[in-house]
Amino acid sequence: MSDGCLLCRADHVTTWHFEDDECWVADCLVCATPMIVWRTHGIPDDDDERRLRTRLEQIAAERYPEGFWIDDERRRIPDHWHAHARPAGGFFDPASELYDRFG
Ligand SMILES: [Zn+2]
Ligand SMILES: [Zn+2]
Repeated sequence: MSDGCLLCRADHVTTWHFEDDECWVADCLVCATPMIVWRTHGIPDDDDERRLRTRLEQIAAERYPEGFWIDDERRRIPDHWHAHARPAGGFFDPASELYDRFG
């Protein structure tokens, strides 16, 4: 737990799709795409990361049946592991205010 870290706070400000002891998946406030967040403030080892990605892929496959890609670049909060699932060929979900401008 790190004070002031938005991902540690895990506020329910958007739709949540999944949660367990290890992680949660919710729509990103900015992108509106599903985002998985590890509950631990830090970076998981390879095995854990693979399992977390698989979890996100399951949710992404339902949300974006036409295809998706996993974006694990941590732009805003680099020291707390999280990853986005984004629609194939796009960055923002159509529900995002930014979609029309940047697609
Ligand atoms: Zn954190
Ligand atoms: Zn985002």
